[in-house]
Amino acid sequence: AEAFNANVAAAKALNAFIVETPEHALAAAGQADKDRAAGTLKPLSGVPIGMKDLFCTQGVQTTAASHMLEGFTPTYESTVSAKLWDAGAGMLGKLNLDQFAMGSSNETSYFGNVISPWRRADANGLGGNAPLAPGGSSGGSSSAIAARLCPAATGTDTGGSIRQPAAFTGISGIKPTYGRCSRWGIIAFASSLDQAGPMARDVRDCAIMLENMAGFDPKDSTSLDMAVPQWEAGLSADMKGKKVGIPKEYRVEGLDADVARVWDAGIAWLKDAGAEIVEVSLPHSKYALPAYYIIAPAEASSNLARYDGVRYGLRELPEGANLQDMYAATRAAGFGAEVKRRIIIGTYVLSAGFYDAYYTQAQKVRTLIARDFAQAFEQCDVILAPTAPSAAFALGDKTADPLAMYLNDVFAVPASLAGLPAMSVPGGLSKDGLPLGLQIIGPAFDEQAVLNAGLAIE
Ligand code: GLN
Repeated sequence: AEAFNANVAAAKALNAFIVETPEHALAAAGQADKDRAAGTLKPLSGVPIGMKDLFCTQGVQTTAASHMLEGFTPTYESTVSAKLWDAGAGMLGKLNLDQFAMGSSNETSYFGNVISPWRRADANGLGGNAPLAPGGSSGGSSSAIAARLCPAATGTDTGGSIRQPAAFTGISGIKPTYGRCSRWGIIAFASSLDQAGPMARDVRDCAIMLENMAGFDPKDSTSLDMAVPQWEAGLSADMKGKKVGIPKEYRVEGLDADVARVWDAGIAWLKDAGAEIVEVSLPHSKYALPAYYIIAPAEASSNLARYDGVRYGLRELPEGANLQDMYAATRAAGFGAEVKRRIIIGTYVLSAGFYDAYYTQAQKVRTLIARDFAQAFEQCDVILAPTAPSAAFALGDKTADPLAMYLNDVFAVPASLAGLPAMSVPGGLSKDGLPLGLQIIGPAFDEQAVLNAGLAIE
């Protein structure tokens, strides 16, 4: 824990942490020593992890990387973080993210962007040194793990926020089935999509972390009332008798050549591990992104209504202001541009007169997408696809164009809309030396199949 604390303190340039909590990590290490002596070691005894700053941590500032919640210190602990502490882990600090988890590059954080520890190989002299985005929204988590500042971290994934940053930084991360991890104490973005999950250096570490994050919680009404399987003990890279589906609609025209090459390599590895490869069809895939960018902002506009200057965090009370003025001033000052964009889009699609045309329609598309997957899983055990359409881009590259930023999520959001477990594992490098991720999607509740295929690729 001491060495990790020192590395975290020395790596300020990456801006991966919003708050450092070295004493928390040290206390867990001390407890681990006692437990070792007493023969009562726990699964994560003394392991120093990073906590995405979207999880409420008792007595430790929790901001969602927003000005709105700057200085907000929860009086309670999220279920997922409480489970990790019960398993013996300690916290190195709270990790940076896109503001309220809205973004794909960690550039919307009020506390500044995060930098990926990766650099492009400058073979062609095209600015190899440009700092790269670590992906988002869990960009603090991905950057910190890739830079070896922590062996594992928590992430949340609403529409790719665990998988895409994992892919951008050459690490692994899994979003479990919706409902596996309790959402209690996680600052809400889009409640029907939000899922917590682990990010780590390899598949085994993800399995161990997930076992200690998941589980039924009566405080979350959408929590799955199912036993947590022993995913680590169940790990097997043998794919004999397994069918891997390749969704033909993901072979989009203009697919990046490096992404296509790494996808083909992944197919070959799974074949070598004994799998049979089958083509499957997910015909409504092309509607997933537009449906996501209606449903997620709609839920966000509702969830973020609570930040009114009364209950949490920031309060702006101009001279002579009435209640309405206070709401407006607080929200104008407390939210960043991307968050405001989502609130406005969400309010619009939910408004009387437009509700049926946008929100109801998007929900119908969501049902069709879930049905596509259900049909595909009659023919295969897992699906293999790219995680993201490109390798990490340079900071600033897409900040002026929200649609270009949203397009990053094109391969990630279908599994989110269907609530399915999905993982990203490192698949190879682009021609300029940047990591590319492979995504494995499984049927509901079958994280084991996803982890096993990940292990076969790794
Ligand atoms: N990039 C997506 C978005 O901006 C996903 C974010 C997430 O999964 N939290 O909405």
